[in-house]
Amino acid sequence: MLSKRLAAVAEFIPTGSRLLDVGSDHAYLPIALVQSGRIDFAVAGEVVQGPYESALTNVAQEGLDNQIRVRLANGLAALEASDGITAISICGMGGRLIAEILDKGRAQLAGVQRLILQPNNREDDLRLWLATNSFTIVAESILQENDKIYEIIVAEPGQMALTPDQTRFGVYLPQESSAIFQEKWSRELAKLDYALTQVPLEHEDQRLVLIDKISKIKEICHAS
Ligand code: SAM
Repeated sequence: MLSKRLAAVAEFIPTGSRLLDVGSDHAYLPIALVQSGRIDFAVAGEVVQGPYESALTNVAQEGLDNQIRVRLANGLAALEASDGITAISICGMGGRLIAEILDKGRAQLAGVQRLILQPNNREDDLRLWLATNSFTIVAESILQENDKIYEIIVAEPGQMALTPDQTRFGVYLPQESSAIFQEKWSRELAKLDYALTQVPLEHEDQRLVLIDKISKIKEICHAS
């Protein structure tokens, strides 16, 4: 069974997609999607030998070798033109690493209709990459599992202009302003409040940066 996080990611994979899952580790996501009938072809790409082997073993054990190709490859190098990939998922990594993987594989993105991304941090860097590389965010989600809070960003080819607030807080998440969104930013607020107590009064520039970040969170989250 998929974790709550990967189950939430699975909801954004269009039915009938030909999926490349980058950093597939145990290949849990492609296996679940094929077994549920949502998709019938996937490539599970993994750059590290150990996780690659566990993906291979799991796919073989489930008897899915015909539908899921497991490849030892760095990022989008797992993709072959004949795969006809229409959707790419990259989950469980830092936002900067996801952006780096997409950037290195830009040439392979033609024909891809949807990116389903689940950064563990630095969502702002990932949103910026999407905006500057002709992708538009079509959906966002936020969830909590085992005390960790995760964001999911879904993008499709298109143009998007992001404000600094949208880059940092999200395009849809602030409007929805769910309890988990509020929790994420109240945790950040607590960190910044603490950081501010550690900066001596004479370091005015540093304090102003923190004060600015704190008031922005309060403004977006309507916190007092
Ligand atoms: N995607 C799974 C998930 O969300 O549960 C696994 C997440 S695991 C934390 C990250 C995986 O991505 C690791 O197995 C790691 O080896 C793999 N990885 C990191 N960089 C990669 C790259 N450039 N290409 C392919 N796989 C990569």
